[in-house]
Amino acid sequence: MKKDKTILSHIVYSQEIHKKHGGVVPELASRAHLEILQNITKQALKDSGVKLEEINLFSATCGPGLIGGLLIGSTFAKSLAIGSGKPFVPINHLEAHVLSSFYNNEITFPHLCLLITGGHTQIYFLKNLNKINLVGETVDDAVGEAFDKVAKILGLPYPGGHEIEIKALKGNENAFDLPQPLVKDDNLNFSFSGLKTSINLIAKKNIIDDSFIKDIAASFQKCVGDILVSKLDRGIKKLSKNSSKKISVSVVGGVANNNYLRKYFKNLETKENIKFVYPPKYMMNDNAAMIAWATILKHFNNYDINFKANPRLSI
Ligand code: ZN
Repeated sequence: MKKDKTILSHIVYSQEIHKKHGGVVPELASRAHLEILQNITKQALKDSGVKLEEINLFSATCGPGLIGGLLIGSTFAKSLAIGSGKPFVPINHLEAHVLSSFYNNEITFPHLCLLITGGHTQIYFLKNLNKINLVGETVDDAVGEAFDKVAKILGLPYPGGHEIEIKALKGNENAFDLPQPLVKDDNLNFSFSGLKTSINLIAKKNIIDDSFIKDIAASFQKCVGDILVSKLDRGIKKLSKNSSKKISVSVVGGVANNNYLRKYFKNLETKENIKFVYPPKYMMNDNAAMIAWATILKHFNNYDINFKANPRLSI
């Protein structure tokens, strides 16, 4: 990526092997990283027409995540930086998610960011780019994880998010009354494991045919939407009390690709007179473009982003 945001090459290598196992197998992921990293780096240099010595800055995700992949990626990028005599910028990949919507939107502060991925469900409050605080997160499963686990219960393939979204299109979202844990609690934390357990119990009492799958997928998706919207609404109200300025809201991470949830957030837009913004599709999931953008934003703008991860910080 150039300093002016132009993406010269973007290679996303999906490790198909995980589909077979219904989830990411750390050992296999590390080995796949080791096997492909050198080749895709050569390919990226070829595609972009850039020589290694022309690169000004190297970066890699340094956490959080599976240590095998992190070690391989960061050691590889650090080695290139040392070999080229150029700086290396370590990136927290959650920080990169939070910053991803700044790529294609003019974002005003104060800003609230809902991060929904396979591994995390969090709400961040940004007073400005130097002050980012985690103000709420899941106490158990992440929302993407809940989609995968529910898909597994219903016999749908991994990853489950897209499969559930497709099945839910033709289902009755009011067919099952599902629990909404923590929704009434006066905080911005989430819980999804009870929801998954409840679906497991319902599935055991029913015949899992196509019509059941469609109805339970739709009910589950609606329940997730209700939980996310209620916590965001609470967050917006809490912030509005302390600030007369209009709050901007972004939704980032792979689950933000879910079109049903996006429509659901629209209800809150009208109610709270707030516009939701999203990163571009190619920066929703963990990939190099998202990391490169976070690197440029931090390094060239001298932002000293204090990326904290303490859910008990109040807003
Ligand atoms: Zn991520």
